Amino acid sequence: MVGEQARQAGVGTGVDTGVDADLVILGEVLTMDPERLIIPDGAVAVLGEKIVAVGPASEVLTQAKGAAVTGSRDDLVVPGYINGHQHLTGDRLIQSSIPDSLAPGESIFSWVLPVHAVHSPDDDELSATLTLAESLRNGVTSTFEAGTVAHPLRVAAAAEKLGARLTIGTWGWDVKDGPYTGTVDEVIGRQRDLLSRINGPLVSSWVSLVGHDLMSDELAVAASGLARDQDTKLTFHISPSPGDVESYLTRTGVRPLVHLERLGVLGRHCVLAHAVHLDDQEVELILTSGSTVVSCPWAYLRLGQGISREFRHLQIWQGGGRLALGCDSENAGDSVDGLRVAALFTGLAKDCALDPTVFGTHEGLELLTIKGAEALGVSDRVGSIEVGKQADLVVHDRSGVSWPPHGLDPVLQLVWGNDGRSVRDVLVAGRTVVHNGVVVGLDLPSITSEAASASRDLIARSGIRPTSQWPKLS
Ligand SMILES: [Zn+2]
Repeated sequence: MVGEQARQAGVGTGVDTGVDADLVILGEVLTMDPERLIIPDGAVAVLGEKIVAVGPASEVLTQAKGAAVTGSRDDLVVPGYINGHQHLTGDRLIQSSIPDSLAPGESIFSWVLPVHAVHSPDDDELSATLTLAESLRNGVTSTFEAGTVAHPLRVAAAAEKLGARLTIGTWGWDVKDGPYTGTVDEVIGRQRDLLSRINGPLVSSWVSLVGHDLMSDELAVAASGLARDQDTKLTFHISPSPGDVESYLTRTGVRPLVHLERLGVLGRHCVLAHAVHLDDQEVELILTSGSTVVSCPWAYLRLGQGISREFRHLQIWQGGGRLALGCDSENAGDSVDGLRVAALFTGLAKDCALDPTVFGTHEGLELLTIKGAEALGVSDRVGSIEVGKQADLVVHDRSGVSWPPHGLDPVLQLVWGNDGRSVRDVLVAGRTVVHNGVVVGLDLPSITSEAASASRDLIARSGIRPTSQWPKLS
């Protein structure tokens, strides 16, 4: 029956024809395909970078004779998770060091920006290596960088070494002060250069602005035009807290998204990081323009930005809008674990609506996989386990103490009861990047000592003064 369902859903390929495959991965398969088919005792066959068969293990093993076989029926196989907003540099080398009791904006202007301003190319590569390694270890295979990288080629090198799928941005703002600011022409030139230099199948780039009230109208219009011309996306930060709303009302007389819509900036090429503080008109503009919103709920909680009062992201979801999840930065959300974000988003949706029926873990997992991929324009390649798609696969080991007995619904147990810690193996484009819980090619003792030393140097150069809130015995 399962085989029949699989064939109907277009995922099983029948037992009569063989397929060439390098590897067959066994386990219960959450396909996230259009039917959201779950295949207990299933298997996924991989050839090169692509998935070539999905279905009941008995069928796939018959088809893919000669392929190496890994895993067991007790494992859970899911599509690689998608992180739509992640700062790869700046925060990582001072991770979880910015106090969580600062006034709004202070963490950015007194901590993050001074650190970014003195980041060396080596710091950028090291920082990105650490964040991407943690991402992969937690099953996040696709990362979209938030637009604060100074040395993108070094960040691209880090992703290529680890085998992570990455879309990179670079600094884009035309304010007077701050690291890597420039005129509109300079900023657009830098963005154009990035698009031409980093455009591979695994590591690519997009147009990125810092956003907020830190971009002129001229820059916003030019960046939007560049993204449209180059058939890529534009991302920027907007309205995570009420500050942007107040600032736009003062400068333009209207709220941020109303102003940006009037400028012609919004559209399906537009990826808005946050968009927490919206009114009804702005929600409607997001829906009608087809702009994507990336929700990073841990950051809003850590920074006290009001997500539990203004959970418009549920309204966007209910309106059929384009939505993805993000982990943000290591001092705003800190942990780079998509499953934690999916669980939190799900809980906030239920709680803010005072209605547990409005949103569930299945929808949360959709945002982390196929719906997130659709919102970010990559669902033709990733986001689900289907024949012809890229083999971005995550295997959760269910032999650990958190799993037995297996729940009746693996999605409930995965999202509510677990997190990235049970990830054992990860493939990106068919390449094994995490094996037995270890990031392949990462010398952890060596990079640990390198990170400690780079962090000390960075703190000294930037002039920030990290302190412990409680007395420390020295
Ligand atoms: Zn951000």
